[in-house]
This record gives sequence, C-alpha cells and structure tokens, in this order.
Amino acid sequence: MTDAIRPLIAGNWKMNGLKAQAAEFDAMLNGAADVAGKADLLVCPPATLIAAFAEKARGKKAAVGAQDCHPKVSGAHTGDIAAEMLTDAGATAIIVGHSERRADHGESDILVKQKAEAAWRAGVTAIVCIGETQAQRDAGQTLEILRGQLNLSLPDASTAANLIVAYEPVWAIGTGLTPTAKDVEQIHGFIRELLTSRFKDEGARMRILYGGSVKPSNAAELMAVKNVNGALVGGASLKAADFLAIAKGCP
Ligand code: PEP
Repeated sequence: MTDAIRPLIAGNWKMNGLKAQAAEFDAMLNGAADVAGKADLLVCPPATLIAAFAEKARGKKAAVGAQDCHPKVSGAHTGDIAAEMLTDAGATAIIVGHSERRADHGESDILVKQKAEAAWRAGVTAIVCIGETQAQRDAGQTLEILRGQLNLSLPDASTAANLIVAYEPVWAIGTGLTPTAKDVEQIHGFIRELLTSRFKDEGARMRILYGGSVKPSNAAELMAVKNVNGALVGGASLKAADFLAIAKGCP
C-alpha cells in the first residue's frame, strides 16, 4: 500500500556550503524533531562537509547523505570519491544519476546503475534520479524517456530498503517551474506501475520522490499527490526554515 510509505525529504546542497554555513545545518537539526512525525529528513551537503555534519547529526532526527560516488571501491581515479569513503565519513544514502551529473559529466544510465550498486556495496541506500528535459517533454517523449532510464539505471536487486527513485523533470530544476499536480500524479503513477511490474511487492513499497522547484509554498500540494513519497529539494534545502517547512507540508 503506497499510502503507508513514510515520506522522505532529502536536501541536495549541490556545490554550495562552507564550514561557515554549518549554523544552517544546526538549525535544521534543532527543528528536525518537530517534523519527525511527518517525514524522514536527509541532508546531502558537498562531500567536504559530510563528516562534520554526520558528527553533528548523531542522535538527532536527520541523516546525512552524499551527492554522487565513483562506482569502484578504490584506485587511480583522481578527484573521485568511492561510496565506502562517503559512508566512512558518515553518509547514510547516496544520490546517483542527478541530471546535473548526467549533463555535466556525460553520465550514462549504465554508469548510474553501477553507482547505485556501489552505494549498496558500501551498505547504504541509493537515490536514483530520473527525469526528462524540456525538449523531450515538448516532443511528447516523457514516459518513454523515464521508462528507459528506469530500465537501465535500476539494478535488478533493487528493493524498497536499498533504492529510492527521484523523479526530477530537468526543466523544473532550479527554474521555479513545476508540473501540475495532475501531471505529477500521472507520471508517479506510471513510475509506480513500472516498479511494481518489475520488483513486485518491493516496487509497490519503494519511495518515489518528486524533485524540481519544491518550496514551502507548493510542498503541501505536491506531497499530497498519490505515489509522491517525499521530495528531493535543491535550492530550498539551503535554508533551514524552508527545508523544515517543506517537511511540515507532508500529509
Ligand atoms: C535538484 O537539483 O535536485 C533540485 C530539485 O533542485 P531545485 O529544488 O533547486 O529545483
């Protein structure tokens, strides 16, 4: 029963945040207990802040995650970070396949799948992002694109515990634009159908997050949509008040 899935509000800080901004994370931790009845909270800061944030979050009602990982465990990959290094620093989930990684670094669905498996190898949940571009939407290809991304990016061993899908229309990320609630319902319903047909009961219980310009003013409407089990939040996750208000908007 998808209605019983506990929502997750995940913040993706992207390439934002210095040690000096830790107070914002402290404010999130201070407010986390108030929203714990509504949703789980996860903050994914830049890798440089994971260890310090994880230390602060110990015993609190928010967890710390990472934004990407390399598929391999170690080796000659200058500048890359293995999933095991991220979990060693305190990450409890890893976002993979964000559209900015797919666009900036040419990441393929196959690589995204390997990264999801790397997250599992390190013992944590993978948050796999999918979403269509504006051009694909205009060409009426949204469902076909999502089907392809899900088929290729999700490993066969995906379960409700080890994998979360984040549907993020690329045209909605950082633009202030969002699909209508009706469109979100149709697309999340389509994703749910694919997950259930491939992963059976596990697919029926997997979280499907919506991401793309979620903010306090639209969170309640979007989070109330059937098969929306939380949000992946970019810009609005940088401010504790906004991030907590989004969680408060969960039904
Ligand atoms: C994101 O990039 O994951 C995202 C959802 O960004 P924003 O909320 O800023 O649109």
